[in-house]
Amino acid sequence: MTIIRGATTVAQDNKEEISFAVKELLDEVFALNDLQKDEVKGFVFSLTTDIHSYHPAKAARECGYDFAPLFAAIEPEINGGLKLCIRLMLLTELSDDRKAKHVYQKGAKNLRKDISEILNIALDGPAGSGKSTVAKILAKDYNILYLDTGAMYRACGLKALRLGIDTKDCEKVTEMLPLLDVKVEYKDGKQHTILDGEDVSLAIRENAVSMAASNVSAHPAVRIKMVEMQREIAGNMSCVLDGRDIGSTVLPNAKYKFFITADSKVRAMRRFKELQARGETVDFDKLHEEIKARDKQDSEREFSPLKCADDAVVVDTSTMDIDEVISTIKKHIQSKI
Ligand code: C5P
Repeated sequence: MTIIRGATTVAQDNKEEISFAVKELLDEVFALNDLQKDEVKGFVFSLTTDIHSYHPAKAARECGYDFAPLFAAIEPEINGGLKLCIRLMLLTELSDDRKAKHVYQKGAKNLRKDISEILNIALDGPAGSGKSTVAKILAKDYNILYLDTGAMYRACGLKALRLGIDTKDCEKVTEMLPLLDVKVEYKDGKQHTILDGEDVSLAIRENAVSMAASNVSAHPAVRIKMVEMQREIAGNMSCVLDGRDIGSTVLPNAKYKFFITADSKVRAMRRFKELQARGETVDFDKLHEEIKARDKQDSEREFSPLKCADDAVVVDTSTMDIDEVISTIKKHIQSKI
């Protein structure tokens, strides 16, 4: 007996998506393995507990895969497991000269890193556009890493502030770089930013560090160092990266690129609430001005500015809630994978 494995994901739990995904998965399994109907002994599907709308076995039967027994089961719910996923075990008998070719599609590619391409999702946009919230949700749902590139620039800005270096002084900041030791570590799936051996994940979120980060990020030597680190991480594992220049500079070949934006007042209000929740007292108008200043500085800097890549999908979140944003992005991802 030979078993051919397959898996796919749907963006939403509905009949159309499930039927389409099942057909697409089976079609590829058959084409890739050059399978004939009479070689198939059975189909076993398993689905995650968040799929309720349709039966994958029924979907398979309806699209012509009705020549062997079909069976479907529900998988146990595992914390951190891939969401909205359909797995397949196709039972067959292949002659010795044919090797089973397994098929992992869409979000399920990440389940088999050994046989699937790396999944990189680039999210760019101005401060407060909601990219980090989106990035965290996508990373969780696709079971991949979230790389917050802003945190790396923030760590660099923090170091300059601590050393009393003028963050706008390109020469002084560049001189500091050989002494800058920034690392990104993951504990329990959460990114921790380590500066010179110290976990600065909280310290870099202080409002004073935001402008310092924007200032240092304009210096070419800083960007060269950070971009190199980001490319190395993204080249080795599937991840969602958020930043300002991911789609345009860091990963120009990324398949999935989004530019998340929102009106500056809406973004200032989001930051205001975030800082307030953390106990920081800030003046809304001042924050709004700071956000606009940061936008201007980030977009107008000469080297690798905040830019919407030509092939990025623009998502304006001004009037959208988070569920709408996620569903818009996932639909685009599903249509391209
Ligand atoms: O996203 P966040 O507000 O944490 O980023 C802090 C600053 O770091 C931004 O204002 C921007 O100037 C800089 N940055 C950047 N390129 C990135 C990510 C952040 O220039 N990829």
